[in-house]
Amino acid sequence: MSTVAEQARTLDDFVAMSDAEIEETIESAREVLGRRVVILGHHYQRDDIVRHADLTGDSYQLSVMASRTDADFIVFCGVHFMAESADILGKPSQRVILPDMGAGCSMADMASIDQVEDAWEQLGEIGVLDQRVAPITYMNSTAAIKAFCGRNEGVVCTSSNAIPLFDIYLQEFDKMFFFPDQHLGRNTGANFGIPLDKMALWNPHEELGGNTADELREAKLILWRGHCSVHGRFKDWHVDKVRDEIPGVKVLVHPECTREVVEKSDLNGSTSFIIRTVEESPAGSKWAIGTEVNLVTRLAQRFPDKEIHLLAPDLCMCATMYRIAPQNLAWALDNLVDGNVVNEIVVDGETKHYAKVALDRMISMTEKKN
Ligand code: SF4
Repeated sequence: MSTVAEQARTLDDFVAMSDAEIEETIESAREVLGRRVVILGHHYQRDDIVRHADLTGDSYQLSVMASRTDADFIVFCGVHFMAESADILGKPSQRVILPDMGAGCSMADMASIDQVEDAWEQLGEIGVLDQRVAPITYMNSTAAIKAFCGRNEGVVCTSSNAIPLFDIYLQEFDKMFFFPDQHLGRNTGANFGIPLDKMALWNPHEELGGNTADELREAKLILWRGHCSVHGRFKDWHVDKVRDEIPGVKVLVHPECTREVVEKSDLNGSTSFIIRTVEESPAGSKWAIGTEVNLVTRLAQRFPDKEIHLLAPDLCMCATMYRIAPQNLAWALDNLVDGNVVNEIVVDGETKHYAKVALDRMISMTEKKN
């Protein structure tokens, strides 16, 4: 990785530039770099980044698509765990860049590997691990937690395949420990009829996660106490309100929303499911969508023949993803032109190996179910 001294221009230089200069820098860098670079734009990214993206999608899709390109450099305009996933799934020769190192994910940051290992140890001490317990982590988690799942017969899931994977694990294991999104875990568990009193909530800041040993022994599902700060902003009263205000509206939400919101909605599913549902709906249909605002706004622009609203009137934006501004992208690309790789995300070999085990397990199990 290059040092600051080697960089052609500092980030501050780019912050001082006009929007037109930034656009010009990005375009001319892309021309020089050609197919050696692929720019990934997550669905929740801002428009002034998405318009420079070669590929758009959700985190897993983007990593897979990038790995299939011949690009030497993957510039991931998303958040930290997504760039890690691109490094895990990418070709050994591909190098991954996150244009702003501060672009983290508040949900992924709610579970550290030390906390997860400590929780696992505590479960062992009270005999819970005498039962078959599978650790399952949502894609939105650190590479270290994915690797933990890989080492311990567990798996990674996305919001698209959580249901088929729960189905397999519920048959083969006595219980699951789900990280880090309690809401996706609870909503998916509810699909299988697991009652709420069989879902324990693990607070990493309390002994036994704030549960009694008996509660943990009896639980079918242990949910890590994490959540998405964006989807957590939707409340059940937003659903009531939008139904009162827009007769005939259908409420479509992401399963990272709370159980109460999901229960009151008409449909829930992954980002891809939300996009597909709107694409396939007839002209004139009305939707109130509970997910990140940039995605909802773009859907509304793409389908002017449909009435598309954000479920909550206040701004539900992924603030950390928003940190990646055109200035950061211009800085990263300009450095690449000069031969400097800035903000490289590198997952160490052992973590990468076991994280890949959990991801490969996800792929093979999901394929078996299809
Ligand atoms: S929307 Fe939520 S889960 Fe997704 S990256 Fe942002 S904070 Fe993380």
